[in-house]
Amino acid sequence: MQGDVTEFVHQMVAVFQRSAEQKGIRLRSTIDFSSRHEYAFDADKWEKILTNLLANAIKFTSEGGQVTLMGRPVWLSGEVTHIAFQLVDTGIGIAPEQLPHVFDRFYQVDNSSTRAYEGTGIGLALVNELVSLLGGTIQVESTVGVGTTFHLRLPVESVTTTTGQSLTNWSAFEPMAVESLP
Ligand code: ATP
Ligand code: MG
Repeated sequence: MQGDVTEFVHQMVAVFQRSAEQKGIRLRSTIDFSSRHEYAFDADKWEKILTNLLANAIKFTSEGGQVTLMGRPVWLSGEVTHIAFQLVDTGIGIAPEQLPHVFDRFYQVDNSSTRAYEGTGIGLALVNELVSLLGGTIQVESTVGVGTTFHLRLPVESVTTTTGQSLTNWSAFEPMAVESLP
């Protein structure tokens, strides 16, 4: 698909706004690249990836917490090649010894029958597979009781005109720091 990445990601986040509100979580996205640009990207896979990560962030964060999705373009040789995302939550966190396993199929930190969180442990395995199919990267860092951050990089292609001129101009982009948000 070809389209406006900013718009696409905002729509993804909007889908989760209600469930976040119901849990008393503040969900925000700062994917505002200032001006709108068209990119070719695999919307189907992007949707599955972001949906799984956002669902986890909300699920493992409790009332009063925050979930923030930030995105910025990554430049290489004068072209935007990727969008780099950071999904930050203030949830329960993941212990260091568990962290290497979270992308494994059916792995759940708490897999007891009495566990508080629903799911089957398939989401992150799917995410990992889709990210590698796209040629992207994903990493996770976490601190128990503080929160979890997923670093995600997904490739995009600049949409060019028939004259070969790039339509994209990211010069107006200024990344927004979380701290500077209202
Ligand atoms: P499913 O996605 O199949 O509904 P799930 O959410 O339990 O089930 P995954 O999405 O694969 O499974 O995540 C695997 C495990 O990693 C989770 O069970 C949880 O223990 C841990 N985890 C994933 N994301 C987070 C997060 N944002 N904060 C804390 N723990 C997380
Ligand atoms: Mg999940």
